[in-house]
Amino acid sequence: MKKSTRPLLVLATGNPGKVAELQHLLRGVPIEPATATDLGLALPADEPYATFLENAKHKALFVAEQTPLLVLGEDSGLEVDALGGKPGVLSKRYSGLQGNAEDNNTKLLRELREVPRPQRMARFQCVAALAAAGRVLFTASGACEGLIADDPRGTGGFGYDPLFYLPDKNRTMAELSAAEKNHISHRSRALEKVIAFIRQYASDA
Ligand code: IMP
Repeated sequence: MKKSTRPLLVLATGNPGKVAELQHLLRGVPIEPATATDLGLALPADEPYATFLENAKHKALFVAEQTPLLVLGEDSGLEVDALGGKPGVLSKRYSGLQGNAEDNNTKLLRELREVPRPQRMARFQCVAALAAAGRVLFTASGACEGLIADDPRGTGGFGYDPLFYLPDKNRTMAELSAAEKNHISHRSRALEKVIAFIRQYASDA
Protein backbone atom coordinates (compact mmCIF):
# COMPACT_ATOMS: atom_id res chain seq x y z
CA MET A 1 0.00 0.00 0.00
CA LYS A 2 1.29 3.48 -0.84
CA LYS A 3 2.38 5.33 2.29
CA SER A 4 0.42 8.55 2.88
CA THR A 5 2.41 11.76 2.71
CA ARG A 6 -0.34 13.79 4.30
CA PRO A 7 0.59 15.46 7.61
CA LEU A 8 -0.66 13.66 10.72
CA LEU A 9 -3.53 14.73 12.93
CA VAL A 10 -3.39 13.07 16.37
CA LEU A 11 -6.74 11.91 17.76
CA ALA A 12 -6.61 12.37 21.54
CA THR A 13 -9.12 9.66 22.39
CA GLY A 14 -9.00 6.00 23.28
CA ASN A 15 -12.70 5.36 22.59
CA PRO A 16 -12.88 3.00 19.57
CA GLY A 17 -16.39 4.21 18.65
CA LYS A 18 -15.22 7.80 18.51
CA VAL A 19 -12.05 6.85 16.60
CA ALA A 20 -14.08 5.05 13.91
CA GLU A 21 -16.42 8.02 13.50
CA LEU A 22 -13.64 10.61 13.49
CA GLN A 23 -11.69 8.63 10.87
CA HIS A 24 -14.80 8.40 8.72
CA LEU A 25 -15.57 12.11 9.12
CA LEU A 26 -11.98 13.09 8.28
CA ARG A 27 -11.92 11.21 4.97
CA GLY A 28 -11.03 13.54 2.15
CA VAL A 29 -9.36 16.04 4.48
CA PRO A 30 -5.72 16.87 3.61
CA ILE A 31 -4.45 15.41 6.87
CA GLU A 32 -4.03 11.80 8.06
CA PRO A 33 -5.69 10.86 11.38
CA ALA A 34 -3.67 8.67 13.77
CA THR A 35 -4.58 7.83 17.35
CA ALA A 36 -2.41 8.97 20.24
CA THR A 37 -2.05 5.33 21.26
CA ASP A 38 -0.85 4.31 17.78
CA LEU A 39 1.84 6.97 18.06
CA GLY A 40 2.88 5.89 21.57
CA LEU A 41 1.50 9.05 23.18
CA ALA A 42 -0.25 9.07 26.55
CA LEU A 43 -3.87 10.13 26.99
CA PRO A 44 -5.04 12.09 30.03
CA ALA A 45 -6.28 9.79 32.80
CA ASP A 46 -8.99 12.21 33.87
CA GLU A 47 -11.65 14.61 32.64
CA PRO A 48 -11.39 17.10 35.48
CA TYR A 49 -13.62 19.93 34.29
CA ALA A 50 -17.33 20.72 34.46
CA THR A 51 -17.74 21.65 30.80
CA PHE A 52 -17.24 19.80 27.51
CA LEU A 53 -15.18 22.74 26.25
CA GLU A 54 -12.66 22.68 29.10
CA ASN A 55 -12.33 18.90 28.92
CA ALA A 56 -11.83 18.94 25.13
CA LYS A 57 -9.09 21.58 25.49
CA HIS A 58 -7.49 19.62 28.35
CA LYS A 59 -7.32 16.44 26.22
CA ALA A 60 -5.87 18.26 23.19
CA LEU A 61 -3.26 20.16 25.25
CA PHE A 62 -2.25 17.08 27.27
CA VAL A 63 -1.36 15.18 24.09
CA ALA A 64 0.08 18.24 22.30
CA GLU A 65 2.66 18.56 25.10
CA GLN A 66 4.16 15.28 23.86
CA THR A 67 4.32 15.95 20.13
CA PRO A 68 4.85 18.76 17.63
CA LEU A 69 1.87 17.43 15.61
CA LEU A 70 -1.60 18.97 15.43
CA VAL A 71 -3.88 17.29 18.01
CA LEU A 72 -7.66 16.91 18.08
CA GLY A 73 -9.27 16.63 21.52
CA GLU A 74 -12.94 15.78 21.79
CA ASP A 75 -15.34 15.70 24.72
CA SER A 76 -18.93 14.65 24.31
CA GLY A 77 -21.93 13.38 26.19
CA LEU A 78 -25.66 13.17 26.61
CA GLU A 79 -27.83 15.86 28.24
CA VAL A 80 -31.31 14.81 29.36
CA ASP A 81 -33.69 17.69 30.12
CA ALA A 82 -35.77 15.79 32.69
CA LEU A 83 -32.52 15.11 34.62
CA GLY A 84 -31.40 18.74 34.60
CA GLY A 85 -28.81 18.07 31.88
CA LYS A 86 -27.35 14.89 33.39
CA PRO A 87 -25.36 12.78 32.73
CA GLY A 88 -23.58 15.58 30.76
CA VAL A 89 -19.82 15.60 31.19
CA LEU A 90 -20.16 12.50 33.37
CA SER A 91 -21.77 10.46 30.55
CA LYS A 92 -18.95 7.94 30.36
CA ARG A 93 -18.96 7.37 34.13
CA TYR A 94 -22.71 7.70 34.77
CA SER A 95 -23.05 4.28 36.45
CA GLY A 96 -19.69 4.53 38.23
CA LEU A 97 -16.01 4.81 37.41
CA GLN A 98 -15.96 1.37 35.80
CA GLY A 99 -19.33 2.02 34.15
CA ASN A 100 -19.82 0.47 30.74
CA ALA A 101 -22.39 1.46 28.13
CA GLU A 102 -24.86 -1.21 29.18
CA ASP A 103 -24.79 -0.18 32.85
CA ASN A 104 -25.06 3.49 31.87
CA ASN A 105 -28.10 2.77 29.69
CA THR A 106 -29.74 0.69 32.43
CA LYS A 107 -29.24 3.51 34.91
CA LEU A 108 -30.63 6.07 32.47
CA LEU A 109 -33.79 4.02 31.89
CA ARG A 110 -34.23 3.60 35.64
CA GLU A 111 -33.90 7.35 36.27
CA LEU A 112 -36.48 8.08 33.55
CA ARG A 113 -38.94 5.35 34.58
CA GLU A 114 -41.65 7.85 35.56
CA VAL A 115 -41.02 10.29 32.72
CA PRO A 116 -43.45 10.02 29.77
CA ARG A 117 -42.21 10.03 26.14
CA PRO A 118 -42.84 13.74 25.27
CA GLN A 119 -40.78 14.84 28.29
CA ARG A 120 -37.80 12.63 27.49
CA MET A 121 -36.03 15.28 25.41
CA ALA A 122 -32.27 14.92 25.20
CA ARG A 123 -29.32 15.97 23.12
CA PHE A 124 -25.86 14.71 22.35
CA GLN A 125 -23.21 17.40 22.68
CA CYS A 126 -19.73 17.37 21.21
CA VAL A 127 -16.92 19.88 21.61
CA ALA A 128 -13.72 19.51 19.59
CA ALA A 129 -10.47 21.36 20.24
CA LEU A 130 -7.37 21.57 18.06
CA ALA A 131 -4.06 22.21 19.78
CA ALA A 132 -0.42 22.49 18.75
CA ALA A 133 2.74 23.93 20.25
CA GLY A 134 1.22 24.32 23.70
CA ARG A 135 -1.86 26.27 22.69
CA VAL A 136 -5.43 25.75 21.58
CA LEU A 137 -5.84 26.91 17.98
CA PHE A 138 -9.54 26.29 17.42
CA THR A 139 -12.67 24.95 19.13
CA ALA A 140 -16.07 24.00 17.74
CA SER A 141 -19.25 22.41 19.06
CA GLY A 142 -22.13 20.41 17.65
CA ALA A 143 -25.41 19.05 19.02
CA CYS A 144 -28.03 16.52 17.97
CA GLU A 145 -31.56 16.53 19.44
CA GLY A 146 -33.64 13.46 20.22
CA LEU A 147 -35.71 11.60 22.84
CA ILE A 148 -34.73 8.82 25.23
CA ALA A 149 -36.52 5.63 24.16
CA ASP A 150 -38.24 3.23 26.57
CA ASP A 151 -36.02 0.31 25.53
CA PRO A 152 -32.68 -0.06 23.76
CA ARG A 153 -32.86 -0.74 20.01
CA GLY A 154 -30.17 -1.34 17.41
CA THR A 155 -26.57 -2.50 17.38
CA GLY A 156 -24.72 0.33 15.62
CA GLY A 157 -22.72 3.18 17.13
CA PHE A 158 -21.72 3.07 20.80
CA GLY A 159 -22.61 4.40 24.24
CA TYR A 160 -26.17 5.73 24.53
CA ASP A 161 -26.98 5.26 20.82
CA PRO A 162 -29.48 2.38 21.40
CA LEU A 163 -31.58 4.68 23.63
CA PHE A 164 -31.31 7.85 21.55
CA TYR A 165 -34.48 8.00 19.47
CA LEU A 166 -34.71 10.30 16.45
CA PRO A 167 -38.40 11.13 15.80
CA ASP A 168 -37.70 12.26 12.20
CA LYS A 169 -36.23 8.87 11.37
CA ASN A 170 -38.40 6.76 13.68
CA ARG A 171 -35.21 4.92 14.63
CA THR A 172 -32.63 5.08 17.39
CA MET A 173 -29.12 6.27 16.62
CA ALA A 174 -27.97 2.63 16.93
CA GLU A 175 -30.38 1.63 14.14
CA LEU A 176 -28.75 4.03 11.66
CA SER A 177 -25.91 3.03 9.37
CA ALA A 178 -22.52 4.57 10.18
CA ALA A 179 -22.95 6.92 7.22
CA GLU A 180 -26.41 8.01 8.40
CA LYS A 181 -25.17 8.69 11.92
CA ASN A 182 -22.21 10.62 10.58
CA HIS A 183 -24.56 12.76 8.51
CA ILE A 184 -26.53 14.09 11.49
CA SER A 185 -24.50 13.51 14.64
CA HIS A 186 -23.25 16.06 17.15
CA ARG A 187 -19.73 14.86 16.29
CA SER A 188 -20.17 15.48 12.57
CA ARG A 189 -21.55 18.96 13.26
CA ALA A 190 -18.52 19.89 15.33
CA LEU A 191 -16.13 18.21 12.87
CA GLU A 192 -17.57 20.13 9.92
CA LYS A 193 -16.18 23.33 11.49
CA VAL A 194 -12.90 21.65 12.48
CA ILE A 195 -12.44 20.43 8.90
CA ALA A 196 -12.99 23.93 7.49
CA PHE A 197 -10.32 25.18 9.90
CA ILE A 198 -7.88 22.38 8.99
CA ARG A 199 -8.28 23.07 5.26
CA GLN A 200 -7.36 26.70 5.89
CA TYR A 201 -4.53 25.70 8.27
CA ALA A 202 -3.10 23.26 5.70
CA SER A 203 -3.30 25.78 2.86
CA ASP A 204 -1.52 28.44 4.99
CA ALA A 205 1.26 25.99 6.04
P1 IMP B 1 -15.91 11.19 26.94
O1 IMP B 1 -16.04 12.28 25.89
O2 IMP B 1 -14.72 10.34 26.77
O3 IMP B 1 -16.15 11.74 28.31
O4 IMP B 1 -17.09 10.15 26.69
C1 IMP B 1 -18.29 10.56 26.25
C2 IMP B 1 -19.37 9.58 26.65
O5 IMP B 1 -20.60 10.16 26.19
C3 IMP B 1 -19.25 8.24 25.94
O6 IMP B 1 -18.57 7.29 26.72
C4 IMP B 1 -20.71 7.88 25.74
O7 IMP B 1 -21.24 7.34 26.92
C5 IMP B 1 -21.37 9.24 25.51
N1 IMP B 1 -21.37 9.59 24.08
C6 IMP B 1 -20.66 10.55 23.45
N2 IMP B 1 -20.89 10.56 22.14
C7 IMP B 1 -21.77 9.57 21.93
C8 IMP B 1 -22.37 9.06 20.75
O8 IMP B 1 -22.12 9.50 19.61
N3 IMP B 1 -23.22 8.05 20.92
C9 IMP B 1 -23.51 7.51 22.15
N4 IMP B 1 -22.96 7.92 23.27
C10 IMP B 1 -22.08 8.95 23.17
